[in-house]
Amino acid sequence: MDLKSLVRKNIYSLKPYSCARDEFQGEASVYLDANESPYNSPFNRYPDPLQRELKAKIAKIKRVPASKIMVGNGSDEPIDLIFRVFCEPTEDNVAAMEPTYGMYKVCADINNVEYRKVLLDDGFRLNARKLLAATDAHTKAVFICSPNNPSANTAPEEEVRTVLENFPGIVVIDEAYIDFSGSKSWIESLDKYPNLIVLHTFSKAWGMASLRCGLAFASEEIIALFNKVKYPYNVNLLTQKQVLEAIADGGAAKNRWVAMILAERKPLADALNALQIVEKVYPSDANFLLVKAKQADGIYRYLVDEGIIVRNRSSVALCGGCLRITVGTKEENKALIEALKKYEIK
Ligand SMILES: *Cc1c(COP(=O)(O)O)cnc(C)c1O
Repeated sequence: MDLKSLVRKNIYSLKPYSCARDEFQGEASVYLDANESPYNSPFNRYPDPLQRELKAKIAKIKRVPASKIMVGNGSDEPIDLIFRVFCEPTEDNVAAMEPTYGMYKVCADINNVEYRKVLLDDGFRLNARKLLAATDAHTKAVFICSPNNPSANTAPEEEVRTVLENFPGIVVIDEAYIDFSGSKSWIESLDKYPNLIVLHTFSKAWGMASLRCGLAFASEEIIALFNKVKYPYNVNLLTQKQVLEAIADGGAAKNRWVAMILAERKPLADALNALQIVEKVYPSDANFLLVKAKQADGIYRYLVDEGIIVRNRSSVALCGGCLRITVGTKEENKALIEALKKYEIK
């Protein structure tokens, strides 16, 4: 892969904004370099633009060097950066499996980049050959979401490998739900594939969606490009502090929460399957279930009236009649099943 030929020319030659905290790093007793207020500590000071303390801890947990990590304002930030760094508006394109996470297409549209959809095979199976066939000389990136939202399944390893080894551009693997699957993360293959970007997030298994903190793992060269283009202070002090505190246990609390959610997933799927109105519950490697139902729209509106909100995916490709239901606590899942039983006898 020739990284230089993939990057937009203006970004490759971009001289990034140099902020005060870039120029001086380290400890001092008097800071008069950034036009900050001397009052209202600690909020008066700009946060670390490269989140060094946080990255050092994440590096240990994920076993990836800090130089290969970008911390973003949610993983939505690196998704947008992929377009801004690699895709020339109106010239380049990206390809992605369909159905998948909606942000890839929204970011493509915002950046005026063509978005090519490749339908998944039966069982929502990724077909590498079909994805590769949709690419051309202007395809800068392909997006693989695994486990996939909304189909909840993991992309087969051999299909992903085929894409990684045959596509000469950037391969993005979004692993937002990896903690709920039994599969290994592709971050273990970062050194083998210089064209790989893996996305993780603190929004799902880690329970910190409100803090907006996501991660991109890639080669040092790709991370350097992200750092050049991102807003200098993209992750605020409160988020950096709170995430650091939450991961100080190395992920022990997260692992307990994941175990509780996984213990609920099968009973919830069984209870849904036992309902007359449910045609099928798809296998899940994530913290949600894709459920094919009779009268999905009616059930959705009924549940809203009952104060229970699920996601209506019935207008999404290959998801006709489907609702996406997040696995909640035992009590929340019970409330859902009770409401659906009431709907059946109505
Ligand atoms: C929820 C989700 C994310 C997380 O996005 P954040 O911006 O980190 O909250 C990323 N990718 C997929 C596929 C998701 O479903």
